[in-house]
Amino acid sequence: MKLNDLIKKIENKYPLNLAYDWDNVGLLVGDFHSEVKTVLVSLEANEKVIEEAIEKNVDLIVTHHPFIFRKMNKINTKDLKGRLIHKLIKNDIALYSMHTNFDIAFDGLNDYFMEIMGFENSKILDVTSSEILYKLAVYAPMTHEIIVREALGESGAGYIGNYSNCTFNSPGIGTFRPEDNSNPFIGEKGKTEEVKEVKIETIVPSSILQKTISKMINAHPYEEVAYDVYKLENKGKSVGLGRYATLSSEIDLKGLCEKIKSKLNMDHIRVVGELNTKIKKVAVVTGAGSDMVGLAKSKNCDVIITGDVKYHEAQDALDMNMCIVDCGHFDTEDIFKDVMKRFLQTIESVEIISSTVNLNPFKII
Ligand SMILES: [Zn+2]
Repeated sequence: MKLNDLIKKIENKYPLNLAYDWDNVGLLVGDFHSEVKTVLVSLEANEKVIEEAIEKNVDLIVTHHPFIFRKMNKINTKDLKGRLIHKLIKNDIALYSMHTNFDIAFDGLNDYFMEIMGFENSKILDVTSSEILYKLAVYAPMTHEIIVREALGESGAGYIGNYSNCTFNSPGIGTFRPEDNSNPFIGEKGKTEEVKEVKIETIVPSSILQKTISKMINAHPYEEVAYDVYKLENKGKSVGLGRYATLSSEIDLKGLCEKIKSKLNMDHIRVVGELNTKIKKVAVVTGAGSDMVGLAKSKNCDVIITGDVKYHEAQDALDMNMCIVDCGHFDTEDIFKDVMKRFLQTIESVEIISSTVNLNPFKII
């Protein structure tokens, strides 16, 4: 498969524009036209991971943490990053990173954490954006009303909550006069026509607007299709960082910690709060989310599960009667390999392997 085609499939599910402005995501090293047979997934790429990719004859490394983050002025072998970039290019290995766009997206890292833990019906903790919606109105002859409407539905337009294929249809008379260079489906050149038509209106999210318009035009019989697109004030699906959920049954903080340790295969965990605190509502922010303690409290969560918690943040949490489970940055995010592998395995003709390099920089002695 061409790298460009694989990237389109990834970005269709995890769009780059979900990432924060400060982030650096997408294809960071590589040739869009190269051929990809084997993909290595890893939390990040260091020298060991790149050596592993060379040894396993990998064409593409997909990481969560951006391989290139700070601005670079030179790429040469005197500098560590320059040496690694040089090594990747020499070995014809591309590198793609998906960071905050993957944290924020549906079925990304935070959703996967909730799934592993069995926390159902989760909501977004910090909404970062909501999808822009458009109203598409198309005028079709009555003979083609159904075929055009079906094309709209098949493209994914017309979703309102849990209802699909929503349209409004109003009959009317369309008029037109074919001019010299026209090739009319109905009518004659130079003669004004009156045709019984139907105006089909539906709602379309911005992500599929162009696809919907081209499917609609393909299904429409006219040489020139009359349609209107309006930007709406209503907002579509929201996306954002972190998740929170109400537990199906109450658990104490100690029990929750044991559950997390078992699900994430950890032998220790840091916790802030009394171990017998009753936990009914949990917030999760993978990576570093201790700045969201107050936000989680405002959603009536009893605990936030995250990583990278500092001393004063822990003190502040105690003051506001909020518990924190600090699993560490690494352990909340190394699961990237599993969720990314699961997604990429749905794409045919590429082999996906997980890195076996242990990237946790910390040891407990
Ligand atoms: Zn991270």
